[in-house]
Amino acid sequence: MSRVTDSNRLSEAGYDFIDEDFLHSLMARQVDSAEVRDVIAKSMSKQPLSLEETAVLLAAEQPELVEEIFDAARQLKRDVYGNRIVLFAPLYIGNECTNDCQYCAFRRSNRDVVRRTLEPAEIRGQVEALLAKGHKRLILVFGEHRRYSPAYMAECVREVYAIRLGNGNIRRVNINAAPLDHAGYRTVKESGIGTFQIFQETYHHATYGQVHPGTTRKGDYLWRLDGVARAMEAGLDDVGIGALFGLYDWRFEVLGLVAHSLHLQKHYHVGPHTISFPRLRPACGVDLDESHLTGDDEFKRLVAILRLSVPYTGLILTAREPPQLRREVMAFGVSQIDAGSRIELGGYTEAGDSQTQAREREQFELGDIRPLDAVMRELMTDGYIPSFCTACYRLGRTGEHFMEFAIPGFIQNLCTPNALSTLMEYLTDYGSQETCAAGKALIRKEIDKMPDSQRKVELIDRLRRIEETDERDLYF
Ligand code: SAM
Ligand code: SF4
Repeated sequence: MSRVTDSNRLSEAGYDFIDEDFLHSLMARQVDSAEVRDVIAKSMSKQPLSLEETAVLLAAEQPELVEEIFDAARQLKRDVYGNRIVLFAPLYIGNECTNDCQYCAFRRSNRDVVRRTLEPAEIRGQVEALLAKGHKRLILVFGEHRRYSPAYMAECVREVYAIRLGNGNIRRVNINAAPLDHAGYRTVKESGIGTFQIFQETYHHATYGQVHPGTTRKGDYLWRLDGVARAMEAGLDDVGIGALFGLYDWRFEVLGLVAHSLHLQKHYHVGPHTISFPRLRPACGVDLDESHLTGDDEFKRLVAILRLSVPYTGLILTAREPPQLRREVMAFGVSQIDAGSRIELGGYTEAGDSQTQAREREQFELGDIRPLDAVMRELMTDGYIPSFCTACYRLGRTGEHFMEFAIPGFIQNLCTPNALSTLMEYLTDYGSQETCAAGKALIRKEIDKMPDSQRKVELIDRLRRIEETDERDLYF
């Protein structure tokens, strides 16, 4: 591991903490059932797991042990998060890119993709289309290009927040973009973003070099690895990390994600807000080595193991995955999903193009293209409360000094009531008849489950006001 001295570029904790020999040695270990069960038992007490402990779970192959891991993940999700699932949508702003990531249709050497950056009026059109469907939380996605400077990103965020349609507005804008320097993050933070997401793609150095060839910005492994640490130092304390599964051994990537979380926890006293685990999808002009593609069974295991290893970090499951698998994996501890997503530039208003045209504008193919309303209904049928809540970051409940899970009764007193209010807003303003019927039945059931309290009285009154008047955005 090399310590890096250029402190202008990197964070205080800017060294390469991915010790490959150590991670590989953990992956080579044989484990017995008793060891696996001991680690599962530890995770059930909601303690984050070490790398060694995570590796024990990764080594568990026997079907009955895998089932025990799944059961534990389901239980931990219920205990820590309750039955809420937060919904968001991605909004691709521009696909100009100076990098050459071998897995991505936006890479600079791909001549087949149509390059486009949305004009302000087009951003407005996309956001209005999303608002008309009921969305409240967006993630803006950018290629890496000098056009997409921090000032430009901040301007896009401000534009999005300023748009209103009927009773709707976007209440949380997150960003997925290339890593910035400290000053860049500060500029973006001033626009009021929620989470800044950066995926390492692969934590394995040689693979990283192969899929990010040449002297591109993204080719600098450490600049990227250190990206979210710099964001934290610049005051952005909600950061998201992720790995693109399918580039290298899935077990190694899980250990990389856990090592990254532990590194942030150690140096900044707070782990990542979210972890994403996208799987490689087919993309325009992409022809990749398939030897590390992650199968469905391995995918389920990795989600469940992440849940047990980092009990307090949100897990994001994207629409890259097909509906049936999303439904199954959701139970293992996912806390956020996107729905009704379109990832081609302009896709929320320009649908109806032929498949080929769409392919030339999108980054990769999606697995779940059902409308938001259908996803909401399925969630409720499966016993989840779909939530558009944005209360915490708007009330400054973020970062080191705030851990909702550590505060007794927090989920019960704040998260569930806020989820129900945002659900009622959705049903009243956007829900189809069928979804409204399912949603109102769910709200009644959840209210009945709540013990009597002043909070419950207030919530019932708020739900009535949302249904009967134009009062919106009421949160605890
Ligand atoms: N350009 C920025 C970057 O690379 O960090 C941000 C956005 S990039 C458009 C978002 C993410 O999409 C990447 O970090 C990568 O993990 C994922 N991605 C790229 N190509 C993909 C593919 N073929 N299948 C699935 N996910 C892919
Ligand atoms: Fe550009 Fe990001 Fe695609 Fe890489 S993953 S080519 S950086 S848009």
